[in-house]
Amino acid sequence: MADSLLKVDHLVKYFPIKKGVFRRTVGWIKAVDDVSFEVYEGETLGLVGESGCGKTTTALTILRLEEPTKGQVIFDGRDVVKMKKADLRKERKNMQIIFQDPYSSLDPRMKIKDIIAEGILTHNLLKVRERYKRVGELLEKVGIPAENMDSFPHEFSGGQRQRIGIARALALEPKIIMCDEAVSALDVSIRSQIINLLKDLQKEFNLTYLFIAHDLSVIKYISDRVVVMYLGKIVEIADKKELFTNTMHPYTQALISAVPVPNPDYKKERIILKGDVPSPANPPTGCRFHPRCSKVMKICSEIEPKLTEAKEGHFCACHLYNEK
Ligand code: SF4
Repeated sequence: MADSLLKVDHLVKYFPIKKGVFRRTVGWIKAVDDVSFEVYEGETLGLVGESGCGKTTTALTILRLEEPTKGQVIFDGRDVVKMKKADLRKERKNMQIIFQDPYSSLDPRMKIKDIIAEGILTHNLLKVRERYKRVGELLEKVGIPAENMDSFPHEFSGGQRQRIGIARALALEPKIIMCDEAVSALDVSIRSQIINLLKDLQKEFNLTYLFIAHDLSVIKYISDRVVVMYLGKIVEIADKKELFTNTMHPYTQALISAVPVPNPDYKKERIILKGDVPSPANPPTGCRFHPRCSKVMKICSEIEPKLTEAKEGHFCACHLYNEK
């Protein structure tokens, strides 16, 4: 197995709920609640769950774009949470993020050459002429002719803008890229082009991805291993093939049952989840999934199941397996 590049250990991120004239804290939104996982060098780790489950907050907290409430984030042997601001700025060069919305993530007033070169300039890496030469190379790498570098973001389509976002993330030669719903806003045909581009770039630059998506079919295509989150907690971690063939957690089973199958003759039974995702400000007791689980038992509302290794490399937080 490859070396661990990123180790997230008991990460917690709570947001205060403030009310009244004095803005007193009256409660907490438990967006990420005791989350631990590792990302190995060169792999794509898929992070999946319904919207509001804490996937994006997990990525932002790893990068310290949101300050963690508790926990450790060990990146390349160093604890990101304990880093001073100046060290963190330097380390961010190695940890980049691609956002979901290619329309709002690029400054409309800047030429794309300056958007892509911004990080190179901030870190004072190359002189002007070399900087733009590099921008041209990066644009070609992501499939946009270099002569377009003087254009503005509005002159490009959604898919092209996401390519520009990828070029910007690549500019600093990062070790890891967090792709936060990076293809969700794109048309299906463009989506597969961008996913294939990300795969090619991964091979060429030995990149590691933390790929966040709510769509399991995208996760299935791109990931090596998968982490499933529900209401701020990890409920299952496994190798992709293992997760899809030997699904353990009832929540993951429901998500997988909703993935469309391309064969019209194959009828699969869809598991419909009851009700909505509860509020992270007031999560259910015991197993957070228990109000919606079809296999709920008495213990489920009383004791929180721990994430345990039910099978080699396959972790699950469910009393059905913890008891075995
Ligand atoms: Fe369902 Fe209980 Fe397992 Fe939670 S612990 S997923 S409620 S069976």
